[in-house]
Amino acid sequence: MHSNRTVAFRRTVMTGGAVVFLLAWTFVGCWKRQLEYPSVSSDKNEKPGVRVLLFDKVKNCTLKSAAGFVITDGQSNASAHFISENTSVSVSIANGQIAIGKTSFSGEILVTPDKHYVMAINDNHYRGSFRIILSGDRSSLMVINVLDIEAYLAGVVGAEMPSYWDAEALKTQAVAARTYCLYIAKRFGTKRQWDVRATQANQVYRGLAAERATVIDAVRQTEGMVLLCTHENGARGIFPTYYSSTCGGHTENSRNVFGDSFEPLRGVDCPYCKRIARKSYITWPVFEISIAEASSKLTEKYSSLKRLKTVIAIEETDVSQNGPIRRINRVKIIGKDSASDWIRGEDLRLTLDPTGMKMKSTACRIEKKNGKFRFHSGTGFGHGVGMCQYGALGQARHGTSFEKILSYYYPGSWLVKGY
Ligand SMILES: [Zn+2]
Repeated sequence: MHSNRTVAFRRTVMTGGAVVFLLAWTFVGCWKRQLEYPSVSSDKNEKPGVRVLLFDKVKNCTLKSAAGFVITDGQSNASAHFISENTSVSVSIANGQIAIGKTSFSGEILVTPDKHYVMAINDNHYRGSFRIILSGDRSSLMVINVLDIEAYLAGVVGAEMPSYWDAEALKTQAVAARTYCLYIAKRFGTKRQWDVRATQANQVYRGLAAERATVIDAVRQTEGMVLLCTHENGARGIFPTYYSSTCGGHTENSRNVFGDSFEPLRGVDCPYCKRIARKSYITWPVFEISIAEASSKLTEKYSSLKRLKTVIAIEETDVSQNGPIRRINRVKIIGKDSASDWIRGEDLRLTLDPTGMKMKSTACRIEKKNGKFRFHSGTGFGHGVGMCQYGALGQARHGTSFEKILSYYYPGSWLVKGY
């Protein structure tokens, strides 16, 4: 695990060269107190830092903080104190540099709110500080939220699971989200300027908008807890603790869906979600898409499929059957001139229906009819790997502890307190 390596800049004390902007002095008193936030977790132990990619390839963004903030230039280390007092400050690109008002900064800035305050980026509040990085061609900005993992989880758990769910279910979500984030950061973070995306591509992070008292309790009560397992090479470590909404009856082997193989992710029976998940998650209506639309979506997204020019057929090539659940793991995409290639079932699903709300899973059947591809007899919601969230809720309602629920969905794993 890494610790605080994410904060690349040394904070600088305001120097004589610092520029002070007094943009407004309104709403001082009560506004300040409302946006003063207590820490999510105890301060006694150092916690790993996380770099969350909030926005990529944007032309501008706005900054706002009740008590002001400091901007540090990544190159010169000079800092400027902005006192915005509930007024948005616009960040844009001018003359190949980051521009804030009439002040220019080099290719990268660190934005830090005053202690105990939070900042709004494009009017959404987040804990921690921010790195804003100009792209190599100086045409767009990347906005990264830098914060400790417990503060990050406070904005994830309630975005990935309803905050009114049972406390034990919320705790399973906190541990799974913590372990997953640290695994992704360790595996991919060293090769890029951020660790995780704030979207479903990793896990949804909504900052303060997703924080609730129940969620903060779940994060605090599991502080530092992660799941470990023995990897195929014999080493012990964290693993990608995938989770999804509703497995439908049996969770799927990770190898079939994502191609990675870990003992706790081989799939288990799940009689729990069926009893309580929304009916539309257990049996979802037919999803139809015209062959022409499917063809353009597939060939636009995958360069490997471009050469097929026009897709005329999709065939199931790798299907797993676990009890009642039949999942399409891989499909053959066939072009007009008989050329073909394959993609994963999950990739097909999220290409044809990027929201994932219509074609809810790959536990369905494909047919071609009247110029359309029809995905029918569908069950479950999500990729089905790892913890089934509705199943976790079902078990929590029966009084099962979060530790037991986690060991049920991730068999062969064990819980440790990392810090
Ligand atoms: Zn389930």
